[in-house]
Amino acid sequence: MKKLLVIFVILLSVSILLAGNYYIVQKGDTLSKIAKENGVTVEELVKYNNLENPDLIIVGQKLRLTPPYTQKDLNEQLVMATLWYQNAGEARALAYQAYNFARILYDMDLKEEATKPRAVIVDVDETVLDNSPYDAGTVDTNNAYPIGWSEWCEAKLATPIPGAVEFLNYVAETGGEVFYITNRNDSLKQATIENLKMFGFPFADEKHVLTKSTTSDKEPRRQMVAENYRIVLLIGDNLNDFSSVFRHKATQERNALVDEMKDKWGTKFIVLPNPIYGDWEGAVYNYNWGLTPEEKSKVRKENLFMWRPQK
Ligand SMILES: [Mg+2]
Repeated sequence: MKKLLVIFVILLSVSILLAGNYYIVQKGDTLSKIAKENGVTVEELVKYNNLENPDLIIVGQKLRLTPPYTQKDLNEQLVMATLWYQNAGEARALAYQAYNFARILYDMDLKEEATKPRAVIVDVDETVLDNSPYDAGTVDTNNAYPIGWSEWCEAKLATPIPGAVEFLNYVAETGGEVFYITNRNDSLKQATIENLKMFGFPFADEKHVLTKSTTSDKEPRRQMVAENYRIVLLIGDNLNDFSSVFRHKATQERNALVDEMKDKWGTKFIVLPNPIYGDWEGAVYNYNWGLTPEEKSKVRKENLFMWRPQK
């Protein structure tokens, strides 16, 4: 009796675990029996499971009872972040806050004696240019980065982040230079220069726009600038825009490093918000970008700190 109860509890847990999404084929099952018992059609089961021969199912086989979770489903999760980025006055206010603060810091540095010419290093995407229409364009489609990314960049439709043009021109007017260190590919350099020029960004030229040639590590490019310039500020939306210590680090390590460098934020490093994408997302997946959309959604939810009402 006790044994039977244990088996029943196990079976019940398995069925609860699989409820709604999957069915494990039992002895004596046929596809039409499974379909009938689970409120789906045989055709749907064939489609959801890519079954070549509907008469051939084996005991223990895991069958999907719902349509596969696709990139299109995962893209739904971009709605709130992109909505915020494009519509929230708070997002604009944060951008102005970042660039106003950059100016205060830059003015403070101007009072100091400098042996090298001054430079400010900025990232491009979601730091000085807003590409959120590209991300919004993936909502309700089965596409994801990098599909369409080059086309978007070449269309030069990105618009300035509030406050960026003004601050960087202030740097230029007071004798400093601006370097754009971006992980857009070299092949997009010209389009990027033109996109920046369209909106009056200073130093939008071959020398100052440093695209990605071989490595996404920005450190060698930062070092190149540091050889001849006094780097007053680094501005970006990704921790890798500030230091390479963050590269390929897991979430906890990234956060611990941010804490370790707490004196740099708002003094040497200026961060802009980007809830849409970034290495923070890669860190959540342990940089396993090849996870399926379903796995990504699962990992995302597993990384939420949850509280639920107890009553
Ligand atoms: Mg960026």
